Amino acid sequence: MPGFSFAAMSELTEKLASLQQRLARALETAGDERALEEARAVYLGRSGDVAAIRRSIGRLPAQERPLAGKEINDAVAAMEALLERKREEIASRAIDTALSERIDVTFPAPEPRLGSIHPVRRVIEDACAYFERHGFAVVLGPEVEPDYYNFDALNIPPEHPAREGFDSFWVDETLLLRPHTSPMQIRTMQLHRPPIAIVAPGKCYRRDAVDARHHFQFHQIEGLLVAEGVHFGHLKGMLTGLCRALLGPYQNVRFRPSFFPFTEPSAEVDTTCPKCGGGAAACAMCGGSGWIELGGAGMVHPNVLREVGYDPKRLSGWAFGFGAERLALARYEVDDVRRFIDSDPDLLEQLA
Ligand SMILES: [Zn+2]
Repeated sequence: MPGFSFAAMSELTEKLASLQQRLARALETAGDERALEEARAVYLGRSGDVAAIRRSIGRLPAQERPLAGKEINDAVAAMEALLERKREEIASRAIDTALSERIDVTFPAPEPRLGSIHPVRRVIEDACAYFERHGFAVVLGPEVEPDYYNFDALNIPPEHPAREGFDSFWVDETLLLRPHTSPMQIRTMQLHRPPIAIVAPGKCYRRDAVDARHHFQFHQIEGLLVAEGVHFGHLKGMLTGLCRALLGPYQNVRFRPSFFPFTEPSAEVDTTCPKCGGGAAACAMCGGSGWIELGGAGMVHPNVLREVGYDPKRLSGWAFGFGAERLALARYEVDDVRRFIDSDPDLLEQLA
């Protein structure tokens, strides 16, 4: 029936026109390939709107189906054309964006994360540099030493009670991990004729309980000067200069009478607390004393000079041994030596 068929055909034409309009509107906001594919699925996909219309043409009279099929095919071609135009538009916009991107060659590159020199090492290097400026040589020695270099040659014979005070790690009956850097005094004087001016930094080991100030492994900076006419005032001047070079221009040192078998006279050496400047009762770094203990020093004992074949009537010398960790604690105002050894990365980065 033409009337029915006309109504059905015009309904079909309207539906197809409306689908094309909806697709065109949907594509206005489509920004990428994925949005295009989604739109295609909705309108042209196997379970999309056009497919539904195509299935319904079976209800039309047989003679009208070819015409309906042609209309649908024309609509599909038009919609495909819309999609293709949009695809080209998106592609050309992507090329424009890429071409308009500029590379700023002056923009700073991300900074590489570099390591830094450990605070204890820095103290050792700076101390060595100070002595090198004064004509001293830097010497290094073994960490496992015979007791001869650690004790006998330093005026500490086997029965001497001072041996016990070193709390050494013994490897066997005569070998030990050096508890101090003083063996380098003997090794250097045996090898060289006077005058001697050396600084000997390095690791030392003692059976100490670990706490904020002590560790079983630590670093010492040893100094030795032997020549004619060397005296205690010279030692005090050099150590004052060292503390000022490492800790600041207002540092002072004080000597407290002490005893070491290898020096006579002997002294414990303190330096002004760099945190409070030597004056605060409530200072946590020095406990209110105003002083920081650095280590021992003194005039080389005549027996030590005799041991290496030097004439103590003609030559004199001074020596000292400072804890490098002590200097680093004072310099960086850190309260616990374990923070250096645990290699706390935040602390090390901060101190770098
Ligand atoms: Zn203090």
